Amino acid sequence: MNEEIYIIGHMNPDTDSICSAIAYAEFKKQAGFGDNYIAARIGELNSETAYVLDRFGFSEPVLLEDGAGKKIILVDHNEESQSIDGYSEAEIVEVIDHHKINFRCSEPIFYHNEPLGSTATILGEMFLSCVDDIDKGVAGLLLSAILSDTVVFRSVTTTDRDVEVANKMAEIAKIDDVKSFGIEVKKAKSSLEGLSAKDVIFSDFKDFNFNGSKVGIGQIEIVDSKEAVDRRGEFIDELEKIKLDEDYDLVVLMVTNIIEEGSELMVVGLTDRVDAAFKAKVEDNRVYLKGVMSRKRQVVPQLEGVF
Ligand code: MG
Ligand code: MG
Ligand code: MG
Repeated sequence: MNEEIYIIGHMNPDTDSICSAIAYAEFKKQAGFGDNYIAARIGELNSETAYVLDRFGFSEPVLLEDGAGKKIILVDHNEESQSIDGYSEAEIVEVIDHHKINFRCSEPIFYHNEPLGSTATILGEMFLSCVDDIDKGVAGLLLSAILSDTVVFRSVTTTDRDVEVANKMAEIAKIDDVKSFGIEVKKAKSSLEGLSAKDVIFSDFKDFNFNGSKVGIGQIEIVDSKEAVDRRGEFIDELEKIKLDEDYDLVVLMVTNIIEEGSELMVVGLTDRVDAAFKAKVEDNRVYLKGVMSRKRQVVPQLEGVF
């Protein structure tokens, strides 16, 4: 038996991270690379991902808590600040991603990064070109991940290739109405009921280092704004607490309404940077940005530019 190689997505894993890890382990097996590839997760699944795995009959990947001394493939991320403990002592043997690159490696490795809507799109294309009989369940996972990351093709990150691969996977998975299936997937995570403010903020939270400043940006996607509006005060108090406890310069929660296609940003810390980045005015720790749905494309670069 060859040495185990773990495939992991980012912290606070989303559907793309988890489904891509499972699908890539499957690809490695089916394309003849070996059966020593293990899909893993580095955190708890969110309710959307749990719904998707259940829908297509997969169990959750194993939890990997420390990467030190292990061979690892990164999917759906590359930055240490978003990855596993022990990252610097792990041997990263491959990366498959669709984010900005903040990665160093002293060895030549397989690094596949493209500006597509999801990591699953890259994997879907790999399956389509190398595997004859794509498993129905795997196709369902890849379809779900594409729909999740592109917000059912509404995000500005969506490309023609995402739509094309999604449609091909839908055919294999026997999903007739792709868009309504996408909304079904997104709805599985959109309820905030029973979640503490902290759970909501950290359900999809990423850390960034902007020119020496520590910035954290969380995002939730909802289909109805009422719950989030009712709990604004609670969320902002929790953001203040996180800022103090973890010494952030700026903490942001993007509350993205996928039906209205816009985001309310709740912000604490250097709010003037948010004003400058979006030519808007933060009032009472919040600002609404119409048309903004993508953290990666419509928030991170704009904010990074003013630090
Ligand atoms: Mg992701
Ligand atoms: Mg992704
Ligand atoms: Mg995401």
